[in-house]
Amino acid sequence: MATTAKRDYYDILGVNKKATEAELKKAFRKLARKFHPDVNPGDKTSEQKFKELNEAYEVLSDPKKRKQYDQFGHAAFEQGFGQGPGPEQGFGFEGFRGSGAEQFRGGGFEDIFTDLFGGRGMRPRGPQKGEDITYTVEVDLEDAIFGRTMQVDLQREVSCTVCGGSGARPGSSPRTCKTCNGAGSITQGKGFMHFSQTCPACQGVGTINADPCTNCGGSGVTTRSERINVKIPPGVDNGSKVRMAGMGASGVNGGPPGDVYIITRVRPHHYFERRGDNLYSEAKVTVKEAALGEKVKVPTVDGMVMLSLPPGVQTGQQLKLKGKGVPNLGGAGVGDHYVTVKVVTPTGLTERGKELLFELDRLHPKNPRQEVTFRGFRRH
Ligand SMILES: [Zn+2]
Ligand SMILES: [Zn+2]
Repeated sequence: MATTAKRDYYDILGVNKKATEAELKKAFRKLARKFHPDVNPGDKTSEQKFKELNEAYEVLSDPKKRKQYDQFGHAAFEQGFGQGPGPEQGFGFEGFRGSGAEQFRGGGFEDIFTDLFGGRGMRPRGPQKGEDITYTVEVDLEDAIFGRTMQVDLQREVSCTVCGGSGARPGSSPRTCKTCNGAGSITQGKGFMHFSQTCPACQGVGTINADPCTNCGGSGVTTRSERINVKIPPGVDNGSKVRMAGMGASGVNGGPPGDVYIITRVRPHHYFERRGDNLYSEAKVTVKEAALGEKVKVPTVDGMVMLSLPPGVQTGQQLKLKGKGVPNLGGAGVGDHYVTVKVVTPTGLTERGKELLFELDRLHPKNPRQEVTFRGFRRH
C-alpha cells in the first residue's frame, strides 16, 4: 500500500465521521470556493487542496463509497482491492480528466458549480434582453383604491448615442482578443482537471475595442434619468407589480430592452384597515343607538353613509357595507367594508342618569352572565 501519506477525507472536509450529507455539502462548498483555481490562479498549493477536496467529496457524498471508505480507508479505492479492476475502478477523477466544461460538470457536481460561478459564461454572449428595472413607489390608500397616474424618475441605461452601443469610437475597428485568440473562452487548469471559462479579457465576445468610445467609456451604454408617467391601476396592494414593457435597460448585442416593474407600497390609513380587497373600520355607538337599532353615520371610501344598526347590536359585531371595499386588481369585483360596532358605556353619570339605569335594570333584569357555568380553577 503506497498511499499511507494520503489525508483522511473527513479531515480534508473538516467534518466529523458522523456528518450528514448536508453538512458535507456545506463544508465542500465553503472550501471549494476558497481553493478554486479561478480564485487562486497559478497557486499550486490551492490547486492541490482543491484536488483533494474534490476527491474527498466525491467519495463521501456517495453513500456506497462512503461506507467502503469508513470500513477500509483509502485502501478501498486502490488498484486490486476487492473485485479488482472493473467498472468501479478508478471512479475518482476519470470523469474530470477530459477537457472542457461539459465533462467537468458531469457527475453530480453541477448544482454546486452553478452555485459557485452563478452559471456564468460557458458560451459566448448572443443578443440579450436588457435588464429589468424595479422601482418601488409609495401610494396612499386612496390612490390604491381609485388608481392614479404618477410621475417617477427612473435612472435607466440606454444605448450610447455616440457609438450606437458598440462601445467603439466611431470609425475605429475592433481587434481580435489576444487572450483567447478570438474564441471567447479559455481553458483553465491542467493535470487533474481543466475546464473552459468565458475569456475575462473580452467577456466572451472574442474582440477588444482598440479605441473605446469616449462618451460611454467603451461600455456601449450610458445612464439617463427619465421621468415617466406610471399608471397605478385601482386595487394595488403592498407588493403589487405594475409592468411597463420595454421601459427598462437597453438590450445587449441587439437584444430587446428590459421592462420596468413598479412595485407599490400602500401607506397605512389612519381610519381604514385593509385586508386584501376588504376594508375594516370601527364605529362607536351609544347604548341607546345599539339597543334601539338606530342609523349612524360612518365614513366610507365613497364618503359618509348611514349605517343601520340592527336593534340590540353588540360590541364586536361586524356589519357589512357591500361593495365599499377595494376594487380587485385582477378585475374580480369590489371588496366590502366591514364596520365593527363598539358600544360605548356612558360615563360621568348624573344622579338622574343613575336612577334611569337602575330603572332600566329593573325593567329588563336579564343577567348577561347566566349561561356561564364555569366556576374557575381551584388552587391545589
Ligand atoms: Zn459609446
Ligand atoms: Zn478574449
